[in-house]
Amino acid sequence: MSSVQQCSLDSLDSLLSEYYASIDTIRKSLPLNPSRTRIITLMGAHRCDEYIKNQLENKYNNEKIFDGYWRDLHKAFEDRITDRLTIELSKRQREVFVSAETPEEIGRFDILLITNGYGPITLHDCPTNKSIAIELKTGYSWSIEQLERYLWKVGSLILARLVTADAVVFNRTKLMSFLIDSLEDRIARAKRLLEGDVKTVPNSDCYECRIQDCQFNRSRTGNKNNMVLVKSEQFHRTPEVMNNIYPTVDKTIELVLMELDNVTQTE
Ligand code: SF4
Repeated sequence: MSSVQQCSLDSLDSLLSEYYASIDTIRKSLPLNPSRTRIITLMGAHRCDEYIKNQLENKYNNEKIFDGYWRDLHKAFEDRITDRLTIELSKRQREVFVSAETPEEIGRFDILLITNGYGPITLHDCPTNKSIAIELKTGYSWSIEQLERYLWKVGSLILARLVTADAVVFNRTKLMSFLIDSLEDRIARAKRLLEGDVKTVPNSDCYECRIQDCQFNRSRTGNKNNMVLVKSEQFHRTPEVMNNIYPTVDKTIELVLMELDNVTQTE
C-alpha cells in the first residue's frame, strides 16, 4: 500500500471513530437504546430528521414480511456461490477464510472472505484490509447507503445481481474521496442533531411517515400492508433466474480472484 493510500485510510479511520462517538452519544440519549447500526442505517437512508427521531423513539413494527420465495432464492444463490468459491480457491491453493451471513458491527455480510495473500490466516488478519465482502441481490434493488457502510469495514465489496447475471466490484481505495466526503457530511449531521437542531425535510418518506400531525404527511393511516409477495411474472421467470445462478457465480468469482491478486500485490 502506498503512503498516500495509507494516509487516506488513516483519515477514514479517524472520521469513523468520530462518527461512531457521535452516534453512541445519540444512542445514550434514547430510551429504547437502539443499536448503533440501526441509528447509522436510519440516518444514512432517510433525509428528514423528524422522521428518524420518531423511528428511534418508538417501538414500531415496520418489518415487512417477505414471500419465502426471495429468502429461498437468496439462500440457494448464497449456498452455490460459497460452494464454488471453496472449490475454486482450494484448486488455486489460496488460503482464504470464507463465511456466510457474517454479523459485523455495521451489518451482516452475505459472504465475507478474509485473506492473507497466499499465507495462512491468523486471527490477527481479521481487522486488516485484507477482506472482501459479497452482497447478493436476487432482484433489481441495491442500496448505496449499504455499500458505503460495508466499505467502512472491507477493502472490496462485490455486488452480485442474479436477475441480470452480473457482478461489479467496489474498491475502497478507489472510492476513498467519496467515502470521506460522505462521512464528513454524516458527522456534521450527527453533531447538528446532538445540538438539538432537528430539521423537517419533506421527501418520499412522507408517504409512509407515522407523524400524522406533520403538514407534509401523505400517508394513509390504517391501510398498512407489510406483506411483500412475489409477482406472478417474477414467479414465471424462475427457470430463467435459475439458469442465471452459475453465470453470476462465475462472474463473482472472477472478480474475487482479481481482488485477491490486488491484495497480494499491495502486501
Ligand atoms: S411527514 Fe415528511 S416532512 Fe413530515 S416528519 Fe414525516 S417525513 Fe418529515
